[in-house]
Amino acid sequence: MNDVFKRALPVLQKLTTAGFEAYFVGGSVRDYLLNRTISDVDIATSAFPEEVKTIFSSTFDTGIAHGTVTVRENGECYEVTTFRTEGTYEDFRRPSEVTFIRSLEEDLLRRDFTMNAIAMDEKFQLHDPFSGRISIQNKEIKAVGKAQERFHEDALRMMRAIRFLSQLDFHLEKETEAALQSQIELLQHTSVERITVEWVKMIKGPAVKRAMDLLLKVEMENFLPGLKGKASALKEFASWDWEKRTTENAIWLGLVTTVQPSNVTAFLKAWKLPNKTIQLVGKTYQYALNKKQVWSAEELYHAGVDVFSLVNEINVIQYGENQQETLNRAYQALPIHSKKDLAITGADLLKWSNEQAGPWLKETLEKIERAVILEEIDNEKNQIRRWLGYHEE
Ligand code: ATP
Ligand code: MG
Repeated sequence: MNDVFKRALPVLQKLTTAGFEAYFVGGSVRDYLLNRTISDVDIATSAFPEEVKTIFSSTFDTGIAHGTVTVRENGECYEVTTFRTEGTYEDFRRPSEVTFIRSLEEDLLRRDFTMNAIAMDEKFQLHDPFSGRISIQNKEIKAVGKAQERFHEDALRMMRAIRFLSQLDFHLEKETEAALQSQIELLQHTSVERITVEWVKMIKGPAVKRAMDLLLKVEMENFLPGLKGKASALKEFASWDWEKRTTENAIWLGLVTTVQPSNVTAFLKAWKLPNKTIQLVGKTYQYALNKKQVWSAEELYHAGVDVFSLVNEINVIQYGENQQETLNRAYQALPIHSKKDLAITGADLLKWSNEQAGPWLKETLEKIERAVILEEIDNEKNQIRRWLGYHEE
């Protein structure tokens, strides 16, 4: 038995000792059957949230409205979710209300794909009412129940199907693919935040090229932020060697350099990305467009480590060319790394010149900064003073 499950076993045991049912469910069971690294262990139980909270000494109400209580056990956190059905779906979105139930099978029935609807109990017995194991053997992504209805309930499942294709290198079962093709436009009702999560997982998967082929075949791009009519750019984007990626920012920089939206900030905002990402990718975009291979001292100085490293990452992914060490060395060799490193300040200039502060001050500082970066002068007080034409003290 896998160590991750062994560590989590006391959580199941405490629940069953208290008279409830409890199982490992979802991605962890699927990944275990696939011999993949297990990320997080999700637990489903017949105990209602308030009951879960009386059984464990340390709990957090993370998603209590949806039945999820986070439980701390042996220094690790586990999400324990009450069996539930999702009632009625409105607007093709995940329902806001859920009903707690006591039946495992009904809980598995609301799950998206057969491979994700397998439960494992404390004796490591599998409960697999929808033949998820057979789907896994056939490397097949198959909706639980009627695909058409399941995608209609929650359109995000179509995007999840494609990200699982990429992540697991599976294919879509026939009826599931047909349902995807026939109602892809429902995706427009899904919240962008959920789409973005799945998009990132799709790009991180080993079969991203095949996933993109299917995405373009069903014309899903028309319902993704800023990607309407961008099929050929996306094909190019997916052809890069994404396995060489190290940061998530590279996904967004790669996307804007291939799609070239008229307003990069607005494009990234439409994906609801964090401001930090928008700012960094926005600043890096101009440098990346030039596909810089040779950086001048001034460019390195103004770009900074984060920017030139991100451009380099894109060059690695797109062309297999890695210049990181050369760039680091050139950057380290710069005489200064910010205005603060200058040997003089605005106060020195005021004293030397006997003039009032004004725009000239900033201009002069920038002139000095540039001369120092280009090594026309040393970053040394007296030399700068002489260079400006002021008498020495
Ligand atoms: P990953 O390894 O990427 O986390 P996962 O299968 O665990 O994959 P999650 O998004 O963490 O995916 O969801 C956990 C489980 O919840 C899924 O395995 C599935 O059973 C169920 N699930 C998640 N999203 C949906 C959805 N939109 N519709 C139905 N069931 C879902
Ligand atoms: Mg998961």
